Amino acid sequence: MIEPILTVSNLSVRYGKVEALHQISMEVRPGQIVSVIGPNGAGKSTLLNAVMGALPTTGHANGTVRYRNEEIELLPVEARVALGICLVPEKRELFSTMSVDDNLLLGAYRRKQAGERDFLDQLEPVFELFPRLKERRKQAAGTLSGGERQMLALGRALMGKPDLLMLDEPSLGLAPLIVKEIFHVISALKGTGVTTLLIEQNARAALQISDYGYVLETGELALEGAAEALAGNPQVIETYLGLAGKTI
Ligand code: ATP
Repeated sequence: MIEPILTVSNLSVRYGKVEALHQISMEVRPGQIVSVIGPNGAGKSTLLNAVMGALPTTGHANGTVRYRNEEIELLPVEARVALGICLVPEKRELFSTMSVDDNLLLGAYRRKQAGERDFLDQLEPVFELFPRLKERRKQAAGTLSGGERQMLALGRALMGKPDLLMLDEPSLGLAPLIVKEIFHVISALKGTGVTTLLIEQNARAALQISDYGYVLETGELALEGAAEALAGNPQVIETYLGLAGKTI
């Protein structure tokens, strides 16, 4: 069996007295889309931030995070980025006064610094995935619609050619048609060798494109399984999917 690209073992995270994650263990295999679904406050963002090494200073993590063959839980965030891990945070964190083009170029900054001559080679593929960004190259990021901002955040991440792409609620606040478009692109990335760890409240959309899923509830893993099986699980249907069979 193919070795996981990411293995989280017994990960617990505290913010002072609040335990946000309790003994989480999970795996992501190369080329897969893995979703973590769960309600508000379940600890989903905390999980991604812990894997990225980007917890707030009040956060304290215990446990191991293995990326390929290396334990990375003590590495600073820059070192994790250099290994090929990328997080698109819920707040997108774009530079709003800078143009679409300049935001994309920033996504390639690390590769440029590392001396990669072809550091802009992802620009055309990103424009192919998101033709709307190409039409708006000179527009300031702050003037984009919510959906376009999410496309830019994803596009900027892809400029860094990550091996493991972690997405924190890419559908948050977006209209259903845009959600469909974004999820279509995430699904299409699978064919390009990118592995995706997806955190979502939109369980239906997430499970539809995923290979495997985890359900996180109040800091603990409540369920896991193949995405299709989870989508058919009565407990998941009742709590997260509502009417069975409805599509996005
Ligand atoms: P949401 O979907 O609302 O973003 P989530 O599943 O991503 O929720 P987290 O943001 O990881 O959940 O939060 C998990 C728990 O940790 C919550 O109880 C939250 O209040 C708490 N928490 C998160 N960040 C901090 C922080 N910086 N300081 C203190 N507590 C925090």
